[in-house]
Order: sequence, then structure tokens, then C-alpha cells
Amino acid sequence: MTSVGIVGGGLLGMALAADLAREGYRVTILEAAPRSGGLAAPAQIGEYTWDRFYHVVLLSDDYLRALLDELGLTDRLHWRPTRTGFYIDGRLRSLSSSLEFLTFPALGLLDKARLGANIIYASRIRAWRRLESVLASDWLKRWSGPRAWERLWLPLLRAKLGNNAEAASAAFIWAIIARMYGARRTGMKRETFGYVDGGYAAVLQRFDEHLDELGVETVFGARATQVESVAGTVRVSTPAGEREFDDVVLTVPCARIAELCPQLTDAERGRLRAVRYQGIVCATVLLEQPLANYYITNIADARIPFTAVIEMTALVDPSRFGGQALVYLPKYLTQQDAFWQKTDAEIETEFLDALEEMYPRFGRNQVKAFQVSRVREMLAVTTLDYSATLLPASVTTVDRVFIANSAQIANGTLNVNETLALAHRKARELGSLLHGSRAASRAQAGAA
Ligand SMILES: Cc1cc2nc3c(=O)[nH]c(=O)nc-3n(C[C@H](O)[C@H](O)[C@H](O)COP(=O)(O)OP(=O)(O)OC[C@H]3O[C@@H](n4cnc5c(N)ncnc54)[C@H](O)[C@@H]3O)c2cc1C
Repeated sequence: MTSVGIVGGGLLGMALAADLAREGYRVTILEAAPRSGGLAAPAQIGEYTWDRFYHVVLLSDDYLRALLDELGLTDRLHWRPTRTGFYIDGRLRSLSSSLEFLTFPALGLLDKARLGANIIYASRIRAWRRLESVLASDWLKRWSGPRAWERLWLPLLRAKLGNNAEAASAAFIWAIIARMYGARRTGMKRETFGYVDGGYAAVLQRFDEHLDELGVETVFGARATQVESVAGTVRVSTPAGEREFDDVVLTVPCARIAELCPQLTDAERGRLRAVRYQGIVCATVLLEQPLANYYITNIADARIPFTAVIEMTALVDPSRFGGQALVYLPKYLTQQDAFWQKTDAEIETEFLDALEEMYPRFGRNQVKAFQVSRVREMLAVTTLDYSATLLPASVTTVDRVFIANSAQIANGTLNVNETLALAHRKARELGSLLHGSRAASRAQAGAA
């Protein structure tokens, strides 16, 4: 039986492992952390456990819903209508319905008409590859007009991408519009989001069990430090020792792959290192009472140090948190941003000052717990001509070492549904590349 090692036990590695195990491979996941889930893993906030980073499910998340079904968790999936807020010109406004959009004072009627047309036009584009040759900024200015660009898109892009906003292609913003528009269309025009009771901790626990049932071995605390092809097998070094596999698939960020594999060519290493990653610093706050009960409040105000306010308890039943409110305050960062140097205490002071400015009813005495999480390499930014110049290939020049990572999502946003779709696609592709696969056996038989 062919053995496959998967480096990285996030949802991508887990879904890939399940597919390959079902195909008859002997699969081992090597995960650096003491538990599975990566970006979707839970954390402790006060006395409660919830996702380290905020997660919602969309009605259009077909792969995720199929996974929840397979894991027997569909009855734990809850749907709620939610509202969206917008903080602009020092004021918080609701932007949750067409009427609110029409009366939104930051833009004139003509700007709104152009913006609305841009969104509808974007949601209908299927030939997305041509958007890769245009900068998001040029494309948005052209279709939404200069005022909507300045007042809305630029602050939103900056909030999402920091200085990378100037480098992202139009495909990046198209993917966001397509996902959100698709979700609204399925949700009968009303924004409806879902969550799994217990958060991703519940999904991951059941997924771990399922992988076990499929015969997948998962080794936690096994950070791969080197991956080398040696005499027809692949050797993975970890602090606990070496493991050998017939094939290895790497699901970790591009720059980590460049570090892990000394046998890559200089050209491959250069290409992997050239992929621009966006990082995130995200505060999780437990509050005595809600802020404004919008699931998401977008912020178009450079004075506010975080990108958005996510009130998780506008979606999840607050009784889950003893009647308190769970809020996330994300700040997306480029690798070079000086914000990385700030201590947790400095971030807490700065973020709570901003909350006091935004919400007159908020006071620091309402804060029950405050925690900061940081991830350097969260999301590969789809820069100009990304698919042609940077998107990592599945096959490397190192014999039997393959790549399946989220930087291969060129036409979607980073979310669990896309991650699962990618895992299934890669499992199918690897089915004809891995040692002992039917196609490889046929090729071998042909050569003999
Ligand atoms: C702030 C934020 C908000 C999000 N919101 C949503 C949302 O609302 N809805 C949604 O669907 N999705 C959301 N997502 C996206 C979702 O979390 C990701 O799509 C998904 O978790 C990515 O999984 P992955 O396996 O590709 O990556 P990761 O989760 O990063 O997994 C990679 C794994 O590799 C491990 N690893 C790294 N280096 C090594 C090594 N050398 N050896 C062994 N193991 C290693 C890491 O520990 C990690 O577990 C959000 C993500 C973030 C950060």
C-alpha cells in the first residue's frame, strides 16, 4: 500500500487525507501544533472556547455543507439573518438593505447607481482570468467611479490588504464580490449566515474521529523541518525523528515550502518566495453587552486601528457565552508593517480606545477578557498575472514531493468552502501522480 505523508493538519490537509484514504492510500498527517485545524482551530476566551479567528458559513458553501453532512453535524448548523454596519465619517450606519443603501449619505445617487451596477456586473463575470491583468484599483475606479473608489473601495481595500491594496489584481476584489453576492442571492436577498453549534472545535473534533475511522494517522507536535527525496522515498525530518513515505504533499505556506525543501531549484524557490502573503493580528474580546449587533461592521476611517468589527454574538446565541458578547477586531497587515512590533498590551490599549470612540455606550469596564492572536502568513494576495507567474504548481522538481496549499486558490477568497474544494481537486489530480496510482502503474507498465 502506498504511503502518503501530508505536512499540515489544517482543514486542507485533513480533507485531502480523507479523500486519499478513501482511494486506498495509507495516509499520515504531520501537524506542528498540538491539535488539528490551523486557522480554524479554537482558543480559550475567558472561560469559553470558540474559534481563534471568526468563521461564518454561507448558504452557498456547498462543499462545507457536504462535509458537515458527512460528519453528521448538519443538525448543529444554525442559520440567522444578520445585519451589516458601516463606520464612515465618524458615524456608524446600517447598510443591511437596499433602502439603507439608497439613503446612505456618503455617496450621491449616481455614485450608488455605478457602484450597484459594478457589483452586479462583477457577480456575472465568469471569465475571471482576464481580471488578473488589471489592478483592482484601476478596475474599481473605472466601473464604480472616482467617488465610490475614494469613499468606499479604497478604505475597504486598504482595510483588507494594507499596502498590498495597490498590488492586488481585480480578480481579488471580484472573488470577494462573487462570494458575498452569491450568498445573498441564495439567501433570498437577505444576508443570512450560519454557524455550527460549538464552533469549529465541534467540527474538528468530529473530523479527527472520522479520519481515525478512515485509518488516517495524525501526529501532533510534528513540525517538519526538512523534506528530502532519498532513493525513491521521501524523508521528512521532525524534532521527534524522521519519517519516510512513498509520496509527500505539502499544505503549508509557500515561503515555508521554500525553506523545507533544500532540493528545490533556485527558480522554484524564487517563485515560492515571491508570493505575497497577508498577515493578521486579531483581538478577541468578551464584553458584558453587545456593541451594535451588526455581524460585520466595515470601517472606512483611517483613524480606527482595526479593519472591521465582527460581533459573533449577533449570529451565535449569546447564551453560549453566558449572555455576554463575543467580538473580534481584525487588523490585516503586510509582512513589513510596523504594527507587528506592538505588544499585546499596546494593542489592547489602542483597540479599546478606538471602541470608545466608535461606540458612545461602550466603556472599558465592560471588557471581561481580551486576547490577541497573530498569523504572519494567512492569505496569498492575488497580484497581477498571479496564475501565470506565481501560482504554485502541484508537482515540484523534487521527486515525489507535491504542493497543495491555499496559494493555489486564484479565483476565490480564503474560506473553508474554497479550501475543501481545493482539497478535492488536488486529491483527484494527485490520484494520477502518486506512487502506485493507476496512471503511474500504467506508465510504468508501458515503459517496461
Ligand atoms: C481571520 C480569519 C477569518 C476567517 N473567516 C472565515 C469565514 O468566515 N468563513 C470561512 O469559511 N473561512 C474563514 N477563514 C478561512 C479558513 O480558516 C481557512 O480557509 C482554512 O482554515 C485554511 O486551511 P488550510 O489547511 O489551508 O491552512 P491552515 O489552517 O493554515 O493549515 C496549515 C497547517 O499547517 C501547519 N504547519 C505549518 N508549518 C508546518 C510544518 N513545518 N510542519 C507541520 N505542520 C505545519 C499549521 O500548524 C496549520 O495547522 C478565516 C480565516 C481567518 C484567518
